[in-house]
Amino acid sequence: MGFRRCWSVELYRLFSAGMRRPEAGPEEGHEKGCEPRLGGPKIAAMARRIYLETFGCQMNELDSELVSGQLVALGYTFTPDRALADVILYNTCSVREHAEQKVWSRLGELKERKLLEPGLVVGVLGCLAERDGVALINRMPVVDILVGPGELDKLPGLLENAVKTNESLAADAALLPSPPDQPYVTSARQVALQGNASRRSATLAAAGDSLELLDLSRSMSPMVGEGVRRSAYVRITRGCNKFCTYCVVPFTRGAEVHRPPDHIIEECKRLAGSGVIEVTLLGQTVNHYRFEHGAAVMLDGIMQPQKGRSYAGGGGAGLAGVHRRDPFTGANVTTFADLLRRIHDEVPAIKRLRFVTSYPRDFGDDVLEVIRDHPRICRYLHVPAQSGSNRLLKLMNRGYEVGEYLEFLDRARAFLDTPERPLEISGDFIVGFPTETDEDFEATVALIHKAQYKNSFIFKYSPRPGTVAIDKFADDVPEGVKRSRNNRLLAMQTAISQGRGERYVGRELEVFVEGYSTRERKKRAAERGACATGSGGGGVGGGLMALTVNGKLTQGGLAGLEMAGLERAGHEIAGHEHGGGEVSGHEVRVEVEVSEKASPQGPRAQFSARTDTDMIVMFDAEAGEELVGSLRRVIVTSANALTLGAELV
Ligand code: SAM
Ligand code: SF4
Repeated sequence: MGFRRCWSVELYRLFSAGMRRPEAGPEEGHEKGCEPRLGGPKIAAMARRIYLETFGCQMNELDSELVSGQLVALGYTFTPDRALADVILYNTCSVREHAEQKVWSRLGELKERKLLEPGLVVGVLGCLAERDGVALINRMPVVDILVGPGELDKLPGLLENAVKTNESLAADAALLPSPPDQPYVTSARQVALQGNASRRSATLAAAGDSLELLDLSRSMSPMVGEGVRRSAYVRITRGCNKFCTYCVVPFTRGAEVHRPPDHIIEECKRLAGSGVIEVTLLGQTVNHYRFEHGAAVMLDGIMQPQKGRSYAGGGGAGLAGVHRRDPFTGANVTTFADLLRRIHDEVPAIKRLRFVTSYPRDFGDDVLEVIRDHPRICRYLHVPAQSGSNRLLKLMNRGYEVGEYLEFLDRARAFLDTPERPLEISGDFIVGFPTETDEDFEATVALIHKAQYKNSFIFKYSPRPGTVAIDKFADDVPEGVKRSRNNRLLAMQTAISQGRGERYVGRELEVFVEGYSTRERKKRAAERGACATGSGGGGVGGGLMALTVNGKLTQGGLAGLEMAGLERAGHEIAGHEHGGGEVSGHEVRVEVEVSEKASPQGPRAQFSARTDTDMIVMFDAEAGEELVGSLRRVIVTSANALTLGAELV
C-alpha cells in the first residue's frame, strides 16, 4: 500500500521531466502550440493569497488553523474565493470514500486553470496525501505539494519552494515551444510524508517530534482582526494505536503520541489569555492520554511528546477486565484524569472544558470522578460503539464486548447523570461491515435502544485502501442493505433524540452562544446576494466564510472562525468531525456560513448555542455580535430531534 512505503522527508524538484506547456487559446491570437499563452508567474512575493479548504475531523480543522497561523506570520493572506487565490490548499480526509471523492473532484476542476496559470500552486495536505503519496501527483499532475498530517510543520518551506519553482518553470515554459498535443502542466513536486517512520522506534519517546513545534508556536489569534475568539481545540494526543480493522487513521496519522502536560496547560493558558473560554481537547482516543515523566526526553531544551504505551486497557473480554483506574497512575505520571484536573484548576478562565473522542475501554472511574467533581468539565461524552454485535466487534478489532460497553454507560450515568446536571452521550456506528447479518444488525438496534444516546453518527462501511479489513474481508453487504440499515438506525435515533430533548423543556440552562443559527445565516447570506451553496469559493466581499458539507459545525470551528474576524477569509471547513457520515439527533448544516463583521439586517436574529451536555439550543435575541462567544442563561421552551428552542433569561 502507498503509505506503507517509507518516505522520510523528500523534496522533489522536477524541472523538466514530463512537463509540457499549455495550448495557446485561439482567442489569444497565438498560433496553437507555438507561442503558448502564458501569463507568466502570477504570484508576486508577499502578496500571495491562499485558499484553504478543510475536510474531515476536528483534528484536521486544528491542523488547518495551526498551519494558517504560520503562513499568516510569513506574510501570506487568505481568500474565500478560489478563483482569486495564487495558492490552493486542500486539507484532506481519507476515513471514508465520500470525503475523498470531493477532493478528487476539486483537483480535477483545477486542471484547465493550471494550464493557463502555471504559477498557480496546488497543495494536498492531510490523510489523503499521506495515504497515496507521490501516486497522487502522478494521478493529478496539477498538484505541487503533498504534506502528510505528521509533517505539516514543513508546509511553509515547501510552499516557498513550490512558488519559486513554479515561477521559474512558468518563465522557462514561456520561452520554449511545445507540441500542441502535449499541454504543459507544472508541478513543483514538494513532498513531505511520514510513511511508516513514526512506527519504527520502539522507544517510548518520539525523539525529535517536530510537529510539537507547530502546536507550541500556535498563534493565539493568528488571523484575528477585530474579534476575539472564544472557543478553541487543543490536541493532547496525535495518531492512534488501536488499529480497528476498518480504519485508516493509524496509518495516515501514525503512532499515538502524547504531548507533555505542561505544553498543554501552557497552550490553554495562552488561549485563555487571548479570550478563549471554551477548550475542546482532541485525540483519536483522547481518554487514553498518559505522560510518564520518568521517560520524558528533552531535545534542544524542549520536552518531546511520548509514544503511547500499549496496554490492554480493559484487560480483555468480560466485565472482570474493565479497568477502573489508569494502572500506571502515580506521582511520576500524568493520567488523563490528572490532566483534566490540572487544566480545570490551573486555567480557571476556561469556563468549559470538553474532550473528544473517547474510547469505551479506557474509561476508568478516575476520569468519571474528576468530571463529577470539577464543575467546569462538560457533561458530554462521545464514545463510539461501532456495533452491537460481539462477533463484529471482534472482526473490527475494537477490543471490547457489548457487555463492557453497556457496563461503561451505566457506570458513567451513575457517576455523572443527576437531575440537576444531566449527562449526554453520543455514539458512532458502522452499518454494513463485512459479513454483517440481520442478526448482527438487530444487536446494534438493541444497543442503540439501550444506550439512549443524545445523537449518533451513523456510517455505511467504506472499504479503505491500506486497512486490514479491505485485505481480509470482502465488502459483501449490498449497498441497498447498507442504506436501509443506515436509514433504520437514523429513524430510531431521531425518535430517541426527540425524547431526550423533551426532558429539557421548562429547564433553565447555561449555554455557550456560538453565533447566528443556520437559518439566520442563510437569510443573511441571501440578503447579501451571497452564494449559499456548498461548493466553496463564493466571493462574498471581504467576509469570512466557513463552509460545512455533510456535517455539523461545532462550537470550536465556528465560534473560533467567526470571532476571528475578516482576515480569516478563505479558511473553509468542508465536512466536519465525521464529514460525510449521517448524523441523527444533531443539526446538520450544508451551506456557506458567512460572518462578516455582523451588520444587523433587523432588530432580532436567531442564535445557536450549546449546553454543556452538547445539546444545540436556538433562541431569538437582538442581532449583533455581543452575545457571540458568551455564556448566557436560557429557558427551554420546545424540543425536536435536532435542537431545543429557548428564550434568553
Ligand atoms: N477514534 C475514534 C474512535 O474510534 O472512537 C473515531 C475516529 S474515526 C476517524 C471516526 C468514525 O469514522 C469512526 O468512529 C467510525 O465510526 C467511522 N469510520 C472510520 N472508518 C470507517 C470506514 N472505513 N467506513 C465507515 N466508517 C468509518
Ligand atoms: Fe480509527 Fe479505531 Fe483509532 Fe478510532 S480508535 S482512530 S476508529 S483505529
